[in-house]
Amino acid sequence: MPRAGAIIVVPTFRVWNDNSSNDTMRILVTNDDGIYSPGIAALARVATRFGEVRVVAPDVEQSSMGHAITASRPLFYKKSPVNFEGIEAYRVNGTPADCVALGSHLWAKTDVVLSGINIGTNLGNSMWHSGTLAGAKQAVLLGMKGIAFSTPTGKGEPDFKALDSYVERVLSLILENPELNLVNVNLPENPTDIKWTRQSVRQYDGKVVPGTDPMGRKHYWFTVVPLEPAEEGTDRWAIEQGYVSITPLRLDLTNENELMKVLQKQAVV
Ligand code: MN
Repeated sequence: MPRAGAIIVVPTFRVWNDNSSNDTMRILVTNDDGIYSPGIAALARVATRFGEVRVVAPDVEQSSMGHAITASRPLFYKKSPVNFEGIEAYRVNGTPADCVALGSHLWAKTDVVLSGINIGTNLGNSMWHSGTLAGAKQAVLLGMKGIAFSTPTGKGEPDFKALDSYVERVLSLILENPELNLVNVNLPENPTDIKWTRQSVRQYDGKVVPGTDPMGRKHYWFTVVPLEPAEEGTDRWAIEQGYVSITPLRLDLTNENELMKVLQKQAVV
């Protein structure tokens, strides 16, 4: 029995293997549709061509949860039995941001986080609500590279096999460019080319639509409505034209113009 005040050394309990060489890129894959989405399996499969891959994803869907983190209760992970073709996969009772924080905490020296492939685009102002993009943002906050992938919902489920070669091309472009940290990628149904774009911010498609439930009670859906065609060079425009859209993003929200004006006024007074 240890003496009072004695230091008890608790051995670190490492569940995940840590046997890769230093020059292998460590790629954490997450999403917001949940670990059972076919989109994350497709992304993880392509990622294995670039390095060592681990999947750490929410146990249930977290779409539109944005960059929420779980601070009021503990997080747990479980090894996931779903089929990732030999890739280690873990499901977490939290948000995409939680998955990235916990995943990179337990898997030291993670280099890059891929988030997606989301079923549904994340373009323009919808980026604010995106849990998919939040996974990539959380990576950048923690000093890693973060890349979000999304594709539209057509009549049925997206054909992820058909997107495979474009996801690989996009990953090659972004991973070999050290200038790029946070990147938002959207892939249309049948891509014809790749375009570098800016975020389309002129219109917002979030709208409250009233209706009635089967009991006749009034209810409200905060949903999306169709938008006017987008300006050329933007992410929405690229997808409308059938191009893959790659938008480099930043986390600094400072409005430089307004700050400059306020500071100049102060200097005059
Ligand atoms: Mn989603």
